[in-house]
Amino acid sequence: MRPLFSLFLTFGAATSLAAQTNAERMSNDRYTRSHDYDLVHQRIELSNFNWDSTSFDGKVATTLVARRAGLDSVVLDAGAKLVLKSATLRTARHGDTLVVYLARPAAFGDTVRFALSYHGVVESGRGLTYIDTEGRPHRPRQIWSQGEDNNNHFWFPTYDFPNDKMTWDVVATVPRGMTAVSNGRLISDVVAKDGSSTFTWRQDKPSATYLVSLIVAPLVKIHDTWRAVPVDYYVYREDSALARPLYKITPDMIDTYSRLTGIDYPWAKYAQTTVADFFGGMENVSATTLVDWLPGLRNYQDRPWYPWILIPHELSHQWFGDYVTTENWANMWLNEGFAEFMPGQYWGQKLGSHAEQDYLLDEYDQFMQIDQDRRMPVAALGSNNIYPKGALVLEMLKHSLGDQRFWASVHRYLVDHAFDNATTDDLRQAVLDATGENLDWFWDQWLYQAGYPEFAVTAKYDSSAATLTLVVRQSQQDSSKADSTGLRYTTPAAFRMPVTVRVGTAAGDVTARAQLSRRQDTIVVRDVKHAPTMVIFDDGNAILKQLTFDQPTAWLATQLERDPDLWNRHWVIAQLGQRPADTAAAVAVAKAATGADYFLTRVGAAKALAAFPASGALPALQVALKDTSAQVRAAAVEALGDLGGAQAAALARQAWTGDSSDAVRAAAVVAVAQTDSVGRGRVIVQALRTPSYRDAVQNSAYRAIARAGDTTMIDSVDAHVGEHRFAPHVLAALASRGSARALGLLVKHLSDERAYVRRWAVESFAFTLRRDLAQPTLQAARAGLKFADTRQAVDELLQEWQKEGKKSP
Ligand SMILES: [Zn+2]
Repeated sequence: MRPLFSLFLTFGAATSLAAQTNAERMSNDRYTRSHDYDLVHQRIELSNFNWDSTSFDGKVATTLVARRAGLDSVVLDAGAKLVLKSATLRTARHGDTLVVYLARPAAFGDTVRFALSYHGVVESGRGLTYIDTEGRPHRPRQIWSQGEDNNNHFWFPTYDFPNDKMTWDVVATVPRGMTAVSNGRLISDVVAKDGSSTFTWRQDKPSATYLVSLIVAPLVKIHDTWRAVPVDYYVYREDSALARPLYKITPDMIDTYSRLTGIDYPWAKYAQTTVADFFGGMENVSATTLVDWLPGLRNYQDRPWYPWILIPHELSHQWFGDYVTTENWANMWLNEGFAEFMPGQYWGQKLGSHAEQDYLLDEYDQFMQIDQDRRMPVAALGSNNIYPKGALVLEMLKHSLGDQRFWASVHRYLVDHAFDNATTDDLRQAVLDATGENLDWFWDQWLYQAGYPEFAVTAKYDSSAATLTLVVRQSQQDSSKADSTGLRYTTPAAFRMPVTVRVGTAAGDVTARAQLSRRQDTIVVRDVKHAPTMVIFDDGNAILKQLTFDQPTAWLATQLERDPDLWNRHWVIAQLGQRPADTAAAVAVAKAATGADYFLTRVGAAKALAAFPASGALPALQVALKDTSAQVRAAAVEALGDLGGAQAAALARQAWTGDSSDAVRAAAVVAVAQTDSVGRGRVIVQALRTPSYRDAVQNSAYRAIARAGDTTMIDSVDAHVGEHRFAPHVLAALASRGSARALGLLVKHLSDERAYVRRWAVESFAFTLRRDLAQPTLQAARAGLKFADTRQAVDELLQEWQKEGKKSP
């Protein structure tokens, strides 16, 4: 699964899962569910889909094997809204479970078969999502399923937990003009006289039940292959031209992952299918579901998230998650950490080590933000950092083992748990089996405990002894609070890791390798016969860390020019950025902004130039504005906005009118808004009318309006309320700042004829408006609301706030 961590998702519910102590960290096993049968096969037949009642008819034939003597009943997960019509055995209902009584007790190892037919109603969004066009463009009527974590039992009775794998058939009869896409091989596609089609799909290799998938939509198939394996892209007809340029990279990714893991792509086919209103992507086995945001050719210069992260992330789950599956959700990082790690490996293979570091730098930034909110271990139920820290820990493991031993370990892990489940310790065992190294200490500090080392380093050169002495202190605090049951997560007082120090001198580099293991360690680098020109602590950035290391500007400038590692360079740029009065620092950053050999370093340096005097920064930014990389140009424009002044404003206006990239133009809108109080309005109005991928340019205009609290723009914003989800949010932001008119318009949109506009309006009350402001307004407006769905949504919101209000003191 890969959600886009967007504005909307950051408002998402905090996980309220049980806490885990470090003392009990080896017992993640306790989160695995017990059951007394082994699911073997299910044939799932669905028909008569009805969008108005969000219902369908279902028939499920189940084959399982008894795993205890005298098994007299089978307990399945089955949503309470699945109403049984008939069954071959006696059944009983208890909420979301269904008990099937066997005709006679089964012996251990006996095969048991039964069939159930039912009428299913779903609460759209739970298991199945029914989508109607609502008169919106690019949004055909469709249905998609979403199983993970445990929602598949809302549309078919099954064992809804990852620790039982089965094979299955999905047979779906769908209306004329629609296609059904599911897992495995397409067995048949039969058209009836009434124009409906019945698609039969067979997943003939076992996988977990949360990966059973069904998509019903009017789709065209674009066919590709990897070796003899079909690789298909299912998209809306209007997206046909966008699909191949976007997805054509897939066979090469399959090839690369097969080579790196030593396991050929294990499934009968690979389908990627786009659907509306999806949160990102879901790795349903051999049939990935993806959001329908296909970028066009012009957008590739902005390196969209979709091909850079989403496609390779979901694909890698076909090995990590689908082939080997976490045994329970407390080890979910085994799915998500690997899936977040693998795209970086792919880009590293294709574009070189800078691309791999570039990818991981983003993971690093994400992790630091998450860790600041709440510190949790990776291997914990409900862990908030399984994606970025999972990827970063695997990179450290690769660094510490070396490529060959790392991939041999991964291969061993995949072979030992093929078509089966695994826990965090199984991966440690695989490393041990493949390399002979017991990395229990690595697992303990990086997976079962939380945090990372915060190094404070000082260096002292002794010319007579020809030594450089580094004192390395670990200053991280183990300060997480215990929860109400007295359990808490710990942060190691001292992380244990080998580290390399590189000292540059006029006569060449001297390196030293040392083992860090204490709260304070001393590293003596010998044979430093000439004064250091730079000192790199953790050469190659092998350790996930924060670093404080005060150094002369000359050392930092040398490192910025010479160090190939991107994290190290960004750290240096941050140090230099804190020296705005230092001309040598400005020169070094300007040089990197215009001349560094990888665009991300130029991006970081261009942004940092905003901190320096315009005399040093502007000439470099002017060069950066002509960079071949759109990201560098966008960073330069952003810096111009912060720098201010007439010349910066003129350059920002030029970027607005002349640049080919949406991202650069989006940055230019903000920069013009910051620097040009006269020309600002005109540019914002133009921007609101400028179509762009994912509304990047328009959203930028909305941000500029919201940030400035510009009430003269209310009518311009209101004109776009039916098109852009951000527009009502901006009205809400302006209302928050006291605009009665914005608040009035927002209330009016609660009765808009279009259901989605009403939803967006409710959403903007919930997310953007202060509760004390919104609550009385909504209470007053409630009686006059035209549509029942909105009254209900408003009621729910008010109730939620009341509940929250009672909880907080
Ligand atoms: Zn994922």
